[in-house]
Parts: sequence; structure tokens; C-alpha cells
Amino acid sequence: MLVNLHQLAKSLAPGTDASDSSRRLVCRVPECNGKAFPRQADLDRHTRMLHDAPKTYACDYLKCSRSVNGTPFNRQDHFRDHLRDQHKEDLLRRSVRPDADWWNSRSNRAVSNGWWRCSRCLMKRVVIDVDGYSCPGCGNTLELERQKYREKLGSLRS
Ligand SMILES: [Zn+2]
Ligand SMILES: [Zn+2]
Ligand SMILES: [Zn+2]
Repeated sequence: MLVNLHQLAKSLAPGTDASDSSRRLVCRVPECNGKAFPRQADLDRHTRMLHDAPKTYACDYLKCSRSVNGTPFNRQDHFRDHLRDQHKEDLLRRSVRPDADWWNSRSNRAVSNGWWRCSRCLMKRVVIDVDGYSCPGCGNTLELERQKYREKLGSLRS
């Protein structure tokens, strides 16, 4: 008799206790850190929008073959290498300290026009007069070395 009542109570209150924790809707992608969603539809939409669609990184030099008019990159690190090697932007490598030759080989357009590119999010051309040394895209600060280089070149209006 007691057992039957207990079972009845349970069947009238679905979604409680054990069934809840086993059905937690959590995004399994590591960078989402176990982000949870109230409904399956929400998790599906999140997955579709953030994880299924391949991101592309189009070069913002419009005549470049890797711009939106050509073949953009699928990987951000390849785009970063491209900007550094092809367009001679002063994007530092974490592991390599640039020497004078490297700095001399940088494009004037990139280092003395009053803008810089964020090496973290690669946000296009942060204008120093407007945003200073702080990236409006991700909050990253321009590396000190690159700040000094720009100051040395007098690309800043003082
Ligand atoms: Zn996610
Ligand atoms: Zn390019
Ligand atoms: Zn940034």
C-alpha cells in the first residue's frame, strides 16, 4: 500500500529527482565550460549557431586573393600568419622575439598609419586616435613592443 502511494506520487511529479540531473542540457564543447540550457531547442540553436557553422576569416585587404571576393581562411591562425607574412603586419609570435630586420620588413602602411591590428581577435585596424591601445573587439591591449615602435615612428599625433 505504502509503496503504491509512493509510486503514484512520483508519476504525478515528472521531471524531478534523478530524471532531472540525467537530462541536463549541457553543451559538450570544452570552450563552453558546461554551459546549460533550459530546453533542448535552446541547446540545438546554440550548437547550430556557434559550433556547426564553419567560421571563416576573410582578409580585409580587398584586392587580396584571400578576401571575401576570393578564398577566405577557415582557421584564424592561418589568417594571422597570412597578415604577418603576406601583408607584413607587425603581429608578434608568442615564441619568437622579432629582431631589427623583422621590424624593418614590416609594411609602413601597417605600422605608421595610426592603427594597429589586435593579435588576439585580429580585429581590423584599431584606430589609435579613437580607441588608443585597447581593442574594442576583445579588450586586449596592444603589446608594449608594438606601442613603442609606433611611438618611435611618430605615427601618433601627440
Ligand atoms: Zn557551446
Ligand atoms: Zn590578404
Ligand atoms: Zn581584439
